[in-house]
Amino acid sequence: MFIRPSKGKIISGFRTKRRPNHHGIDISQSGKTDILAVANGKVSRSYTSKSYGEVIFVVHHINGQTWETVYSHLELGTRKVKVNQLVKQGQLLGYMGETGYASRQHLHFELHKGRWNINKTNAVNPVDFIES
Ligand SMILES: [Zn+2]
Repeated sequence: MFIRPSKGKIISGFRTKRRPNHHGIDISQSGKTDILAVANGKVSRSYTSKSYGEVIFVVHHINGQTWETVYSHLELGTRKVKVNQLVKQGQLLGYMGETGYASRQHLHFELHKGRWNINKTNAVNPVDFIES
């Protein structure tokens, strides 16, 4: 249903024992690394946040279910899409970076079953939904 949002290794998992409030996964890869839309959808946010850094949110409607994906810490100034823009699965959104609260280059990726909310109650483990 979803493709991988980037190449690289998962360096931190979803809501682990050590990081129970980590509501996504961290994927790390060195060098210029494409960040891709995991499914067709519509950009709901594209902005710079203190914690997420340069971040893009995409809303997807798949077989009657709404999902929202979050791609954060993108390389400074590389966001390629605007709010309300339609994106295709595999479309380039930007490049992996370390903006916001990030100590090394990585993608912090979140998958929400339903819309994103501040408490992230709809977050699910992306690994369970990404086709290998
Ligand atoms: Zn993370």
